[in-house]
Amino acid sequence: MPCQGCLRDSISEFCETCVQTIFFGEPLIFPLLSFRREECAGLMREQATEVSIAGIQDKLGLYLENCSLMPTTTQIQYMLKPLPTESLEQFPEDLPANEHVTMQIARQAYSIPTALNAILFFDNGEPAYLCQRFDRKRGKKLRQEDFCQLSQCSEATEGPRYKYSRSYEDCGQLIKRYCETPAVQLDRLFTLIVFQYVFSNGDAHLKNFSLQVTDDGTFMLAPAYDLRSTHLHSSKKFMMALELFNDSYESPFFQKHGFFGRECFLELAKRMDLNSIRAQLMLTKFHSNQDKALRLIERSFLSAGAKKQYLADVKERLQAIAP
Ligand SMILES: [Zn+2]
Repeated sequence: MPCQGCLRDSISEFCETCVQTIFFGEPLIFPLLSFRREECAGLMREQATEVSIAGIQDKLGLYLENCSLMPTTTQIQYMLKPLPTESLEQFPEDLPANEHVTMQIARQAYSIPTALNAILFFDNGEPAYLCQRFDRKRGKKLRQEDFCQLSQCSEATEGPRYKYSRSYEDCGQLIKRYCETPAVQLDRLFTLIVFQYVFSNGDAHLKNFSLQVTDDGTFMLAPAYDLRSTHLHSSKKFMMALELFNDSYESPFFQKHGFFGRECFLELAKRMDLNSIRAQLMLTKFHSNQDKALRLIERSFLSAGAKKQYLADVKERLQAIAP
């Protein structure tokens, strides 16, 4: 069976490596969740009143004790995302598997640092997405600021769509402003933006990118989180959550086809001051490593219909950024 962490072949729910990395080597008892699906809504409501974590409303804070995962508001090690209450238009049951496989693809096929994650199942078989907290290092909380905070945009300054009020080009400017050695972080940001496009995340807004302050006080891009294909669940195919550019520039490719292609991202790379050869190589990597990505989708916990749709969507986007 596929490991519920890395999706590699495993003789039990989690392979030995994932037990070590995600669960600190503790023996695990299944079902890993110490509470029932029906208790989730009540637990989430309780936690929402006690904890001030962004977006806690649809997540549950957990910690590992006595070989299983317990709800907590004080020692949160993991966040659990059960199926949302509002129903999605397409493949609603596949959201946890979607987020899980998309995060695994980022990490395994494209070496994008991500929060550690897994897919879990309640006693009734319903899936949920589990993510290890990534704002801690050796038990110490790291300062972390998302791109809304860094660009000082809030509902008060920008209105209700404040999370969408800057462009990806602006995101590059934030890196240049805050990171002492921006080149590496800009490469990482660029890869992540292209990843969001190829894997059809039409909701990669400013709150889905953060900088973390490391021990020596320097800012680095935080591990990627909230990666998923939004297209899988919607008939509305948003291209990207933010504009690529600060102005109304449209590449000849975009004018011809009406969607983004390789030359749009090369223009973005140029505006972010990326080395153009490196930018070409980063784009090409999406093709050269595609087999690994497609294989992970096939091995994932998505339903057969969702796998088929996701594979088709990814192939279409890969075609768009082909040389
Ligand atoms: Zn594993």
